[in-house]
Amino acid sequence: MNNSGNVSPPSIPSLYAQQVISGDHASHQHADDESCCVCKGQMFIEQMRLPDTRFRIHDCESCGTGMLFPSPTPEELASFYISQYYGESGQKFGRLTEILVRLIGNRQTLFLTRYLPAGGRVLDVGCGRGVVASPLAAAGYNVTGFEISADAVQGIHDDVEILIAESLQEAPVPTAEYDLVVIWHVLEHVTDPGATLQAACRALKPGGRLVVAVPNYSSWQARLFGPAWFHLDPPRHLYHFPSAALQTLLQNCGLDILQEHHFSLRQNPFGWVQSLLNKLLPRQRNRLYSYLLNEPLQKGHLTSVARIGWFTAYITGMVIVLPLAIAAAVFHSGGTIHYLAARPAND
Ligand SMILES: [Zn+2]
Repeated sequence: MNNSGNVSPPSIPSLYAQQVISGDHASHQHADDESCCVCKGQMFIEQMRLPDTRFRIHDCESCGTGMLFPSPTPEELASFYISQYYGESGQKFGRLTEILVRLIGNRQTLFLTRYLPAGGRVLDVGCGRGVVASPLAAAGYNVTGFEISADAVQGIHDDVEILIAESLQEAPVPTAEYDLVVIWHVLEHVTDPGATLQAACRALKPGGRLVVAVPNYSSWQARLFGPAWFHLDPPRHLYHFPSAALQTLLQNCGLDILQEHHFSLRQNPFGWVQSLLNKLLPRQRNRLYSYLLNEPLQKGHLTSVARIGWFTAYITGMVIVLPLAIAAAVFHSGGTIHYLAARPAND
C-alpha cells in the first residue's frame, strides 16, 4: 500500500498519538474531485501537516472548511480504524470513565427524545457501540443503527436493528420512515458529508428531526490551540467544519435549522484540558485521553493507583476549565456543536 513513490501511508502506533504541526500556509488548487465538500471551492491553504504521513489539513479559502488532503485510499481509511477505536466488547473507556460517559449520556437521551413520539422511529448514523442508540432502545424507541463495520457494533442493545453498508447512501434505509435521525460525531469521518446528509434527509418523515454534532473548527479551542486541538483527531477526521459551513450543508439539504448548541458536557471541557496538555507537552499528544481509554496497551503497565490518579486529574481539570467551556458556548464558539434541524412538514 504505497501510493506516492517513497512516502509511506501513516502508521498509527497509538490511536491518538498522531503528531500535527503547522503547515506552510501556501495556497493550493485542488482538482474537481477534491474540491470543498461544502462550497465546491478549489483554492485551499495548507493549514497543518501530519508528520511522517503524506497527509495535510487544507482549509478552503472560501468557507474555511478543513479537509484531509490528499483524500485517503479505502485501504488507508480502513487502517485508521483498528478495533480499539470502538473499544472491546462495546467498552471504549476505562471502567470509571465509562460510567461517567454513560451518566452524561442520560442527559443526551433526554435532549434527543424531547420531541419524539412514544415508540417513535430513530436512525442512528454511525451508531458504533451504541452510546446513543442503546439508551434510546432501552427507553422503548424503535431504533435502527447504521455502521460500516459489524465489528463496531459489539455490545449494542439487542433491540437495535443494525444496518451495515459501505455508506449511508448505499444502505437499505427506508425513505420517509424516521421521526429522528441522529448523526453524532460521524459527519467529519465520512468521505462525502453532503451525500450522507442528503441520505439522512430522505430517511426522515416530513416534519421529522435531524440532530447532527461535529467538532467546531471555528471554535475558540480550535483557533487558540491550532495543531494541538484535541478534536482534530487526525487522520480519522476527514473534514473540519466551521459552524457556518455546517449550517450551509444543512440548508443545502432543505432542512430548517431549529436550534444551535455550543455546549457538550461530555466533549467540550475535556477538549480544553487535553488541548492545553497537547500544547504544553507536544510529544505526549492525547496522553490523558489514551490513559482514560480501555487500551490493551495501557493495561499492562498502568497500576490501578495510576489509573485513579489520571482519573482524578481528569475530573480536576474538567472542573477548572468548566467556566471557559461555558463562556465559549455563550459566545457561540463551543469546541463541539450540535444542531437540531427539521425536514419541512410539507416536503
Ligand atoms: Zn469551502
